[in-house]
Amino acid sequence: MKRLSVTKILVLTVVALIAVAPMIAPAFYVTLLNYIGLYSLVALGLVLLTGVAGQTSFGQAAFVGLGAYTTAVLTTQYGWSPWLTLIVALAITLTVGYLLGLITLSMGGHYLPLATIAWGMSLYFLMGTIEQFGGFTGITGIPPVSLFGFSLERESHFYYFIWIVVLAALWAVANLLDSRPGRAIRALKQGTTMVEAFGVHPGRTKTAVFVIAAVLACLSGWLYAHLQRFVNPTPFGINQGIEYLFMAVIGGAVSVWGAVLGATFVTLLKTWLQDLLPKIIGEAGQFEIIVFGILLVLILQYARDGLMPFLQRFVPVTKRVLPAAGDRLQHRPMPAANEPVLSVAAARKTFGGLVAVGDVTFNVDAREIVGLIGPNGAGKSTCFNLISGALAATSGSIKFMGHELIGQPASAISKLGLARTFQHVKLVATMTVVENVALGAYLRGSKGIIASALRLNKEDETAALAEAMRQLQRVGLAEHAHDAASSLPLGKQRIVEIARALASDPILLLLDEPAAGLRFAEKQQLASLIKTLKGEGVTVLLVEHDMDFVMGVVDRLVVLNFGQKLAQGLPEAVQADPAVREAYLGA
Ligand code: ADP
Ligand code: MG
Repeated sequence: MKRLSVTKILVLTVVALIAVAPMIAPAFYVTLLNYIGLYSLVALGLVLLTGVAGQTSFGQAAFVGLGAYTTAVLTTQYGWSPWLTLIVALAITLTVGYLLGLITLSMGGHYLPLATIAWGMSLYFLMGTIEQFGGFTGITGIPPVSLFGFSLERESHFYYFIWIVVLAALWAVANLLDSRPGRAIRALKQGTTMVEAFGVHPGRTKTAVFVIAAVLACLSGWLYAHLQRFVNPTPFGINQGIEYLFMAVIGGAVSVWGAVLGATFVTLLKTWLQDLLPKIIGEAGQFEIIVFGILLVLILQYARDGLMPFLQRFVPVTKRVLPAAGDRLQHRPMPAANEPVLSVAAARKTFGGLVAVGDVTFNVDAREIVGLIGPNGAGKSTCFNLISGALAATSGSIKFMGHELIGQPASAISKLGLARTFQHVKLVATMTVVENVALGAYLRGSKGIIASALRLNKEDETAALAEAMRQLQRVGLAEHAHDAASSLPLGKQRIVEIARALASDPILLLLDEPAAGLRFAEKQQLASLIKTLKGEGVTVLLVEHDMDFVMGVVDRLVVLNFGQKLAQGLPEAVQADPAVREAYLGA
């Protein structure tokens, strides 16, 4: 028999409590719980969008309004079935969400929050002014929803409907976060350079997340309309949009249950404060808003990750069961020895007046280990960024396996079989080591958001994790698979980056200072790993400052100085070159 983890027991307890609540709680609290359920759906979208992916939306209330008004108008004025209006509402939401995301997310910065404010305000006024929408008095007489011929007219019946939807949404989003596209989503917050280097299209991923959040809000609005049976614009304004953000921030993003926690906390507190404050202050007014403001500042100050971590402290961590290391993913054909792999011709990169890389030319053949060396600021990392597509070259040509790379996005370059590590380590701190490595295998999996949310990705997922375990074994870090990436010393984090790059099954591996921060024995291990890789057909281009290390592994050297190629050739010859000595002694 499988043993239930503590987390599972807790979840089952919460579900059981939700199931019995209408039988034991006073009617007033059942009403509150209905609203908490509706708010949880919206907050769940924001936990994903804001908490996990780092994008802020003030316009979620407008998506709730969109769901509510679509069904209100179509059911009362055109006699449509609520189920049909749900499809229409979701279709409109998908379109609006996609367009808003497409226009604003690629621009980055503050465009999304600003656009969502504009969207929230305009929809609010539209609802209030258009006569067919009933102006600010709203629309009454919305029919109840029927399920299998059973009308969900009573509030306690609708309660179960709402909470089944909420639990299903929690399940789906939790599944999603724990999958191939989910790892890409979780990595977005720390910037786009790294995810792009492993084939993720950040703009598309962010747009998808925005659309998911919008869909959850729309669903909440549709439910709201059929619970209340009337709508007016008030609950769909910017104020409510901000309150949804409160819920998501207060709950926190460490677990999807943060959405329910945040919604519960805000709703109960608001209800109690509305009762209590007038008694204390002696007059009515929206004083709870002030209390909320203060609370939010305090929470952001003392509990950056929201309230969920406080609860989780009482839950023992259950390690997820990982598949054994395995080699189930497809491999790409490797080029034969000495076939040209990379040819950099007159590549140039300027930053304003600074020539970081000035018309540098060199090439790397299959199964070669080439060292790119030079003093600090010589342009080595910039060179890597040009090759991997993290930076756009000013001019020149870079060919990889016969394809011109200049002008191509990093995600496309990664697809061709190029993988890299970063001088400034870019691991996702909130993910475990094995999840970070699995991100490297992104392009070798295929299951998307919907399949992952519905858990139709078992095989894909097992194969990716087995591959990640295999690479971790290969680099000697298997025992750290479950650890948070940020808990490892920096030197080991660099090795995790190598495992992640290897998980992409690269033809060419770019290593930027991989030995920095390693101890002597670890450096020796790394050197033997690089040689093993060569034996397996991988080509390596390596930046490194430790000359003993470099001389021990490379076949050939290219020396840069002030963005110019100073020398190239066999290690001994380069080492003896007076110009090279001069550059190093000068530095
Ligand atoms: P290396 O890796 O060889 O130490 P880099 O490639 O990081 O050198 O840097 C080469 C030069 O380009 C340095 O003078 C650095 O300050 C400059 N540089 C690198 N990246 C940028 C950037 N994004 N903006 C402006 N200058 C940069
Ligand atoms: Mg560098």
